[in-house]
Amino acid sequence: MTAPVAKLSFWGVRGSTPTVDPSTWRYGGNTPCLELIAPDGTQFILDCGTGLRMLGNRGTSPSRGGSPETHIFVTHYHWDHIQGIPFFAPLYSENNEFHFYSFRSKCLGRDSLKQVFEAQMAVPYFPVDMSAMNARRKFREVDGGETFRIGENKITAGWLNHPQGCLGFRIETPAGSVVYATDNEPGDAKLDKSLRELAAGADIFINDAQYTPEQLAGTRRGWGHSSWLDGTRIAREVDAKTLVLFHHDPDSTDRMVDTILKHAREEFGSVYAASEGMVITLGSPGERVEAHMPGSRTALRREAHFRVHVCGITEGGHPFEEDSVVKDLSLQGALIALKNSPRLQSELQVTIETPGVNGMQQMQLRGYVVRIDNVAERDHTAVGVVFTD
Ligand SMILES: [Zn+2]
Ligand SMILES: [Zn+2]
Repeated sequence: MTAPVAKLSFWGVRGSTPTVDPSTWRYGGNTPCLELIAPDGTQFILDCGTGLRMLGNRGTSPSRGGSPETHIFVTHYHWDHIQGIPFFAPLYSENNEFHFYSFRSKCLGRDSLKQVFEAQMAVPYFPVDMSAMNARRKFREVDGGETFRIGENKITAGWLNHPQGCLGFRIETPAGSVVYATDNEPGDAKLDKSLRELAAGADIFINDAQYTPEQLAGTRRGWGHSSWLDGTRIAREVDAKTLVLFHHDPDSTDRMVDTILKHAREEFGSVYAASEGMVITLGSPGERVEAHMPGSRTALRREAHFRVHVCGITEGGHPFEEDSVVKDLSLQGALIALKNSPRLQSELQVTIETPGVNGMQQMQLRGYVVRIDNVAERDHTAVGVVFTD
């Protein structure tokens, strides 16, 4: 019998507003949307930011035995968590059925999420009215502290400290537990406790990391967000296995998120910065984290065969040096065959040997691991690197 496996995909990781600045492309500019496929085939969607559009356009539904069933959790009603709804193509097909979960907002009252649907698609803000949405939609109100089951999975909701309220969700699957705690700020004793209870012992703890500790101590206090330092503290306190830094500030460039990640890794052993396209597999041997980069991001690629020397850190945290070859090369990055398996998002020093006018020349580059192909070629792994200088 094979072990149960759950797959967590990041479709949108940016907070507050989508970004299209090239300096934010590596981590991605779509607002929050995650997908978790549980071992029993149940599809969970966490938040409906602009990442939801791409999830809907994927075309293929996950392989599962019974009829398509998707459960969508909306943490709160700020724009960045709902703005993908009108652009989610599967909502326009009558063959689909969606179960929505969210809380009763003090501002909206009964049927809060239903009202959000209608308000979003009202004239003059949107060209098509609600009647075009033919999929069956069921709405359920959830309160903090509530626990319920969907298939083999146990769901717990918990209140978080955020203006107008926000729910965190804990999903326990037979392959492991995922806690999604976006949009929250430390400083309210009762809600700080609620967050810790939700995150206790989680395999994957996704926490708001919009600001640096310095920003949070200054003008950003009271805006409803956390820093990476809050995440590492809580992860250590509650014994979470892996921390994922989430809801990156729209003004944080990729280089700034790299720095945030570096600081966080000095405080806690297993940390990733959420990036669009990142996939975390739970329950597989070694709890491997995989990622892919959409082709459009890698620009024109050319097959290559340059000798290369690589220094980095393995998934297990050990330094390595290795001679290898570059398999393909673009202006932004390279695909390198390595025997060592570096950690996703870790820094690599790459020295490429290229033919120059006076014989071989060495090109020193620094980059980050953005992709690890587990389709091994003999005993090698194909490692995708984006160069930062
Ligand atoms: Zn948000
Ligand atoms: Zn918010």
